[in-house]
Amino acid sequence: MRVAYTCPSCHAAVVADVPEPLGPIGCPACGGRLVPPADAVVGGSADGLAQVSRCLVCPSADLFVRKDFPQRLGVGIVVAGLAGSCVAWAWRDMWLTFAILFGTALVDVVLFFVVPDCLACYRCGARYRGAGRGRFGGFDLETHERHRQTVARLREGARQPASGESPRP
Ligand SMILES: [Zn+2]
Ligand SMILES: [Zn+2]
Repeated sequence: MRVAYTCPSCHAAVVADVPEPLGPIGCPACGGRLVPPADAVVGGSADGLAQVSRCLVCPSADLFVRKDFPQRLGVGIVVAGLAGSCVAWAWRDMWLTFAILFGTALVDVVLFFVVPDCLACYRCGARYRGAGRGRFGGFDLETHERHRQTVARLREGARQPASGESPRP
């Protein structure tokens, strides 16, 4: 199993193999050691993959299953398809316009089936490749929103450590 995460100390993007048995993961940029909770990996699942019970980094117990695919690339393909079809439309080539649009849609469908799933953490965005799905399901907006607000509150608290909980009108 591999993990891709943002180093909590230096904010570098780290991709590392998760040691078996579970142990600290070093950051190649700052040398900081990430010590995952002992219960974060709970042995093999039915499909023979390592099973994550909680995030190794933050360590939230809320993860979701997503496509292991950079979102920007997905958006890039759609944008390129739209741009290409606009150019073809400007040339008044209707066949080419539709060929580009259908071609882009086809690429997206093929990628959807070819690209494997990975687990991602709602709170810190860490991704786990080659991990079993376990009890985790697809993306849930409500859980995402809950974590977003928690992170925002923590940041707010870090900015004003002395004032504490000041009620606002
Ligand atoms: Zn680091
Ligand atoms: Zn996390």
